Amino acid sequence: MATDVAHTNPTTTPPLAADVAGTAFPARAKAVAFESPTRDVMHNAARWEIKCLDHGFVALVDAMPRLVPQGQTADQAIVQAARVSYGQGTKQISEDRGLIRYLLRHRHTTPLEMVEFKFHIAMPIFIARQWIRHRTANVNEYSARYSILPDRFYTPTLDAIRKQSKSNRQGGEETFSVSPAPNAQSPAPSSEALTAQDFLAYLDRAEALYQDYLKLTDAGVSREMARMGLPVSVYTEWYWKCDLHNILRFLSLRMDGHAQLEIREFATAMHDLIAPIVPMTMEAWRDYDFESMHLSKLEIAAMKSAKAGIVGPIATQNKREQAEWEAKLASLGLVKGW
Ligand SMILES: Cc1cc2nc3c(=O)[nH]c(=O)nc-3n(C[C@H](O)[C@H](O)[C@H](O)COP(=O)(O)OP(=O)(O)OC[C@H]3O[C@@H](n4cnc5c(N)ncnc54)[C@H](O)[C@@H]3O)c2cc1C
Repeated sequence: MATDVAHTNPTTTPPLAADVAGTAFPARAKAVAFESPTRDVMHNAARWEIKCLDHGFVALVDAMPRLVPQGQTADQAIVQAARVSYGQGTKQISEDRGLIRYLLRHRHTTPLEMVEFKFHIAMPIFIARQWIRHRTANVNEYSARYSILPDRFYTPTLDAIRKQSKSNRQGGEETFSVSPAPNAQSPAPSSEALTAQDFLAYLDRAEALYQDYLKLTDAGVSREMARMGLPVSVYTEWYWKCDLHNILRFLSLRMDGHAQLEIREFATAMHDLIAPIVPMTMEAWRDYDFESMHLSKLEIAAMKSAKAGIVGPIATQNKREQAEWEAKLASLGLVKGW
């Protein structure tokens, strides 16, 4: 376990000599030391890694700022940037936590872009396809044209195989019932258990194509073509760097219950790795974004015309929108009056 060792930076005489040839700063550049001792927000670790799925991981490999004044967090870089833009105006909201909460509430997001995180991630290709849609990150991916893909395929456990959702065309929710009923007369597996087993057998057959992939590349087929036959459950890897503003956007979309369960596991790992580095920002994000609720104009109108705590429907013929309104009322503990 890495420890949180303070850096005792010289406060008066910064190091001027370069220990690697060619890395000295030009003579006309002036070194300015930190004003006070600093701490490494990553606790001096090379990386912090959380395992995901069966072979995946999210590893935090770097952060900006990496060094912050002792006793502070990287939230400080956001506050510092905001104070440049607000100048004297921050006197009313001068407390750091209050300022960050103000920024998040009012969607003043550019100060959040002053913080960046770099991750090394291994995930199945079907997850990478969803992830890459977040265009504001900088990405460098493993090249399966250049190198052989490692033998790593995602296989869910039998009891985690989800059925197609009836209400959401894009989702799976309930899992197949795979364990025999406690009072079952026959030891034969149920039809649900058989379907789940069939699904795993199908993934096994797809994974077995890896042997053909190796054989064909050995026989001289180019790697860029041989990979065409591999399933999207094969793992890829990338370095992914993004500023905090866009990471929060990614987390809002990919930790949400509408996102696919597998990418939620990665997004949650990413959240857990950055939360200790920018705790004030993450708290404000949960309060004003992730765990908050957006009300449309129609929903506000329905709320305003509620009588004795009983709220009516919204003025729409759209069944899905009405159902979403019902779900919001239920989560608010309000009685629906229709
Ligand atoms: C539950 C779920 C289901 C989805 N289903 C589908 C689907 O069925 N099909 C599909 O194709 N996609 C789907 N997506 C992907 C989705 O449409 C977005 O592409 C993805 O979530 C990335 O969001 P983003 O564009 O906000 O992110 P980013 O690309 O990170 O962009 C962040 C923000 O930057 C700005 N920005 C970025 N690039 C530009 C640009 N070129 N011009 C102007 N502004 C820009 C925008 O404000 C944008 O919101 C789904 C996403 C989720 C979460």
